[in-house]
Amino acid sequence: MRADVAVIGLGTMGSMALWRIARLGEPSVVGVEQYGVAHSHGSFTGESRLFRTAYHEGTRYVPTLLRARELWHELEAESGRRLLLQVGTLSIGHESDTDLGNVLASVREFGLPHEVLRTADLRERYPQHAVGDGAMGVLDVYGGGLRPELSVLSAVEQAQAHGATVLANERVLSVEPGGGSVTVTTDRRVITAGRVVIAEGSWSRRLSSGLASTLVVQPLPLIWFMPHHLDRFVPERFPAFIRDEGGVHFFGAPSFDGYSVKVTPRRFHDPVADVADVPSVIDAERLRAIGVAAQRFLPDLNPEPVHWGVFHDAFTANHVPIVDIAADGAVLTLAGFSGHGFKLAPAIGEIAAEFATDRVSELIADDYAIAAHPRIAEG
Ligand SMILES: Cc1cc2nc3c(=O)[nH]c(=O)nc-3n(C[C@H](O)[C@H](O)[C@H](O)COP(=O)(O)OP(=O)(O)OC[C@H]3O[C@@H](n4cnc5c(N)ncnc54)[C@H](O)[C@@H]3O)c2cc1C
Repeated sequence: MRADVAVIGLGTMGSMALWRIARLGEPSVVGVEQYGVAHSHGSFTGESRLFRTAYHEGTRYVPTLLRARELWHELEAESGRRLLLQVGTLSIGHESDTDLGNVLASVREFGLPHEVLRTADLRERYPQHAVGDGAMGVLDVYGGGLRPELSVLSAVEQAQAHGATVLANERVLSVEPGGGSVTVTTDRRVITAGRVVIAEGSWSRRLSSGLASTLVVQPLPLIWFMPHHLDRFVPERFPAFIRDEGGVHFFGAPSFDGYSVKVTPRRFHDPVADVADVPSVIDAERLRAIGVAAQRFLPDLNPEPVHWGVFHDAFTANHVPIVDIAADGAVLTLAGFSGHGFKLAPAIGEIAAEFATDRVSELIADDYAIAAHPRIAEG
């Protein structure tokens, strides 16, 4: 089989890359996914993802986030589905916190619509949150919740509508550049492509040996609780949130399923070498303790988790993603989105479309290159 471009992995980044390339009409593009389309094993699984533009991780990402926001709306328009629920994202912390400092710098530097809420305003406006004295909130008006599984499905469907070929339930075994093309061998066929986009998420260490020392697979929990008063946690009244107080970190989303609220602490599992090593359980005692802490922050919650899961993402040492062009411009690697990549995905897909048409996106920073990343053992 021949194609101008092959995309390996149709999860978050790969589905968006496929969509953005396919809608150009030319070049021809084929996507290969080891599971079915919008499966339940990827980093995108888990009902919702936070969208934010006032960014804890630093102002450098804001232009990419603003472009991503436009493209989320474009995907909504094309697919006829609501994917980004703009309910706002509320960051709660203290003015001296580094993360909140980055949030405030983002809104100021880029003129983002926002509201700063001092403790009394915060308590009055969002009584769902019990906050300590001195706590401050910043409401990112562009923020909200994304529907991840639906987004991946929409991007793949739209790519197909624009002419992309999708090979699902087919695993790529090797990628070999050479002689002016790239040979992609799957468990069913050989694809000869002019260019290849590799977007394998937590599986990246398996295929690309160069990534083994740059990435770890990080297990990430998600936990849902039932509130006693659901009407206080519906999207119209309860923005997505990130809270840092007294060394405790929680993030969450309003109720999307009509009975529970996602409220999750910072990751607490150790990184693992391979996606197959991600634990499938959370210790019962730890779950109980998380429930008690969650109820302290959001007193209306029933502290017993109603459901939960352990998911995963590939992390770099400094949490800066990998967007790397190699093999004389024939291979683009997208990896290491370190727990904050979902919201960026359509803009990353656009970077892939520029790569596919021989352009280098302005959104690629020098330290996104594999060679610029610290080796994971060195932290
Ligand atoms: C619990 C959790 C919460 C998160 N919260 C947020 C959030 O609120 N906001 C946010 O922006 N980000 C969030 N993230 C991060 C974000 O979801 C990830 O950064 C993003 O989904 C990573 O996308 P990816 O394309 O790298 O991986 P994936 O989406 O997993 O895609 C990789 C794909 O490649 C396929 N694949 C791998 N190897 C092969 C092969 N050899 N052949 C064929 N196919 C292959 C896989 O099956 C998979 O479909 C969160 C992540 C987790 C896990």
